[in-house]
Parts: sequence; structure tokens; C-alpha cells
Amino acid sequence: MGKMIISLGGNTFQYFTRNPRGGSVKTVDYNDIKKFNDFAKENNIDYIIAHAPYTMNLASSDEKVRDFGYRVIKEDLETLEHIDKVYYNFHPGSHVGQGIEMGIDLIADILNKVIFPNQKTLVLLETMAGKGSEIGSNFNEIKSIINKVEHKEKIGVLLDTCHVNDEGYDIVNHLDEVLKEFDEIIGINLLKAIHLNDSKNPRGSHKDRHEKIGLGTIGLEALTKIINHPLLRDLPFVLETPNDNDGYKEEIKLLKERYR
Ligand code: FE
Ligand code: FE
Ligand code: ZN
Repeated sequence: MGKMIISLGGNTFQYFTRNPRGGSVKTVDYNDIKKFNDFAKENNIDYIIAHAPYTMNLASSDEKVRDFGYRVIKEDLETLEHIDKVYYNFHPGSHVGQGIEMGIDLIADILNKVIFPNQKTLVLLETMAGKGSEIGSNFNEIKSIINKVEHKEKIGVLLDTCHVNDEGYDIVNHLDEVLKEFDEIIGINLLKAIHLNDSKNPRGSHKDRHEKIGLGTIGLEALTKIINHPLLRDLPFVLETPNDNDGYKEEIKLLKERYR
């Protein structure tokens, strides 16, 4: 993975800790992790992002689903302690009809069971598009989850540009105001990484369909402002656009040209 990213022109990446839709994981090869740490150091790869599987829903009404999530996140956090610079990112969850309050309680409850006081890895809550009963699409919900976590110092936030657009935040015309709101509600110091995606749908659509950079409703101008914004420019940016490797290579090149 590391070598491929370098060949594409990148200096960070995201990977799924297991099949995005599945559950089981190959046994961890600590020797492999050690090799990666060395490789990352040599190649100036900074923080990478380990993404939890999509099937994980800590807010599910089904105890079996929550228990699966608990085991995944616990196991992942243990493994990630061996990687030097990594963030763990996950979708807060969908309350599937139980209500937002209940969902928030369930999410925080599991986080409080798996986060351990001396862990190095920060756990990032991803801002969501508000599709179905997704929790964490607005900044207040993210804050409510954090409020209930005991070890708040182990929590950060990952902002997905497609998701915030689809939730209704106007990052195209009012980026400064959106970041100000983020700062007032959550605290900008908690923002640790960005998923840089264009969106196939208009602002407020609650759809969550990513588009290639420059071809969607956010557009290249707005995305250029985002990568150059003083509060964002030094964060790790990860593309989740619908592309093959050649497509990613092109997008990385384009964004680098626009990064001043
Ligand atoms: Fe995600
Ligand atoms: Fe994302
Ligand atoms: Zn998405």
C-alpha cells in the first residue's frame, strides 16, 4: 500500500482495517507493521487513516450488531498501537429508528468500553451525510457523542467534504463560516483529517454519493480553497472519489498543482 501511494504521488493514505463490508481479519503480522513504520519514516508519510468497516454500527438496535462493532473496534485499536502514526476513523452509526439520543448513548457506551487511557491512537468520528438515520451529520451530534466519552483526549473528528455538503453545510460559498461553526461547537483543534471528495448531489440532499474532483456540485474551486485553507492545509487529505489508480494519480497531480 505504502509503495503504491508513493507511485501515485501521495504522502498519506487510508485503508480498511478489514473488508469494508465484512468482518474477519487476517492474523496481524507485526513484522509487516514494523516494516511499514520504517517505510513511512523514510518516505515522509505522515498520519495514515485506518477506516473501520462500513458494517460496523455501534448504534444498532440489534445487540449482535453492536457486539460485532465492539469486537472490531477493540481488536483494531489493539493492532493500531503498533503503527507509529495512524488515526482510526469510523462512521458513528445509524440509530435505525431508536432515536438520536439513544444512538448517541450506545455509541459512547462502546467507545468507553474500548478506549484505554494510555493508547496512542486517536479515534476519529467521521462527519456523515445524514442518509437514513445516520448520526453525526451535524456538528452538534458529533459534540454530543464526544461529551459522553470519558477519555475525550483520545477523540478527534474527520471531516468528509461530500458528507458535509450533502448534510447541508455550505462549504462552497461559506467555508469560513462553516469552519467557525465547527470551531464553536466541536473545537477546530479536534479536526484531524479530511476526506476530500466532490459530491454527485446538491447541498442538503442527504445522499452520500462521492464524485470525482471537479465534476460534482462542490467543484474544483471550492476544493482548492479547502486544501489551501490555513486551518486545513496541514491536515492529511484522503481521496475517496470513484477512480482507478490512474484516476487517483491524475487527481493527486491536479490538487498538488493547486496547493500553494
Ligand atoms: Fe467513511
Ligand atoms: Fe468519507
Ligand atoms: Zn461517503
